[in-house]
Amino acid sequence: MAQNRNQADVNRTAILAHLGAQGPASRADLARALGVSPALITQLTKGLLADGLLEELNETSSGGRPARMLGLVSRGITAIGVKIAPDHVAFVEVGIDGVVARSLMKPFDAVSPLAVSDLIGLVRAFIAEGDTTRVIGVGVGLPGTVANRGVGVVDSTQLGWNHIPLGELLQRALELPVVVENNVNALSVAEQLFGQGREYRNILVVTVGNGVGAGLVADGDLVRGRAGGAGDLGHVPVREDGPLCQCGNRGCLEAIIGQGALVNDARSIRLVGEDEGIDELRALADAGNAEAQEIFAHAGHTLGRALAGAVNLLDPEIVVLSGEGVEAWAHWSGSFDRALRSSLVPGKRGTAVVVERWDDDRWAQGAAALVLATPFDAQGIAGDQGRLVRERLVATAEGKP
Ligand SMILES: [Zn+2]
Repeated sequence: MAQNRNQADVNRTAILAHLGAQGPASRADLARALGVSPALITQLTKGLLADGLLEELNETSSGGRPARMLGLVSRGITAIGVKIAPDHVAFVEVGIDGVVARSLMKPFDAVSPLAVSDLIGLVRAFIAEGDTTRVIGVGVGLPGTVANRGVGVVDSTQLGWNHIPLGELLQRALELPVVVENNVNALSVAEQLFGQGREYRNILVVTVGNGVGAGLVADGDLVRGRAGGAGDLGHVPVREDGPLCQCGNRGCLEAIIGQGALVNDARSIRLVGEDEGIDELRALADAGNAEAQEIFAHAGHTLGRALAGAVNLLDPEIVVLSGEGVEAWAHWSGSFDRALRSSLVPGKRGTAVVVERWDDDRWAQGAAALVLATPFDAQGIAGDQGRLVRERLVATAEGKP
C-alpha cells in the first residue's frame, strides 16, 4: 500500500513538474510524456484539480480529437536548495520545472562554534533576495548521514558535526518547511525527478569527486537503510592495508580513487607539485602525459570492479555517474568500461551506464529537488515536512502563502 502511495506521489509531482516545464498539456499529452496510463493520469489530475493546484483551461489541444488543456495554477512556485561543504555554502532557487532561477556561493566555516547560526543567517539572506511568497520550502544537502530526513539529525565527519538537529533548528529559524538529506541521496531524487533516471524505477547514482558515494532508488523509492546511511560505496574495502581513509579504516575505495588520493599518487612520483591539485593533474592527462593518464585509468579500473559488485548486488536498470570527478571522465572511461563489463555477471552486462554532465550548482539543485518531490509525501520519509510543503504549495496556488 505504501508502495502504491509513494509511486502516485512521484507521479503527481511529475505532472506538476512537466506542466511547469512544458506549459499546458492535455491528459493524453501527460500520459504519453510521463509514460503512464491515461486512466492513472485522469485519476491523479482529478486530485490535483480538487487540491487547487491545476486548472482546466479554455483552450483545447490542436490536431486530433479536441481535448481540454490543464495548466498549473501557479507557475512561479520555487524551492530553495542549499549545499553545505566544509568551507562554503552554495544556494539555488529552483522552479517546480527544475530550472534554476538564481544561484549564489558564500564562504562558510563548518567547524566554527557559530556554524549553525551563520548558516541560518546566510539562508535567510538568500531567501530575502528573491520573492519570498513563492518559496514552498528549503532542501539541504550535505556530506554525511541524516538520521531522519524530516527532523534532520546530522552526523558528518567532513563537516565535523555530531548529532546536530539541523532540520529542526532551520525550521524554527526560517519558519519554512525544511528537508535535510545526504548529498548523494538528494542528487538521486533530482535524477529521478528531472534527470536521466526519470524513465526508470531502479536507479543507481554514483558520484566521484573528493569522495565516492552512491544513491539507490529501488522500485521508485530512495533506499535510506536503517538510519540514512545506505549508499556508502566509497567505503567498500578494496585493498588490504591500503591507504588510510577518513573513516578511520584502510583501503576503502574512496581512499584509493578519491581526488585527494589521485593527487597524492601524482605527488609521490613528482608529477604535480605540493601546491598543485586535481586540475593540474587533469590538465596533464588532457595534454597527453602518459603517467597522468595512467593514474586516471587505474582509478577507472578500480571503480569499474567495485561498481560491478554493486550492480551485481542491486540489479539497477540504469547507473548514472556524476560528481565533480566526471570532468576527467574521458581518462577514466576506457579502463572503467572494461573492468565493469568483465566483472558483471552475464545477465547484467547490458546494464545502461550514463554520465551526467556536471556543473557546480548540481548538489544544491539536488537539495531543492527534495522539496519539489516532497509535497505529496505527507506520511513518507520527509514526515511532517512533506505535509507542510504541501500546505504551502496549496496556499501559494491560492495566492496567500
Ligand atoms: Zn572509508
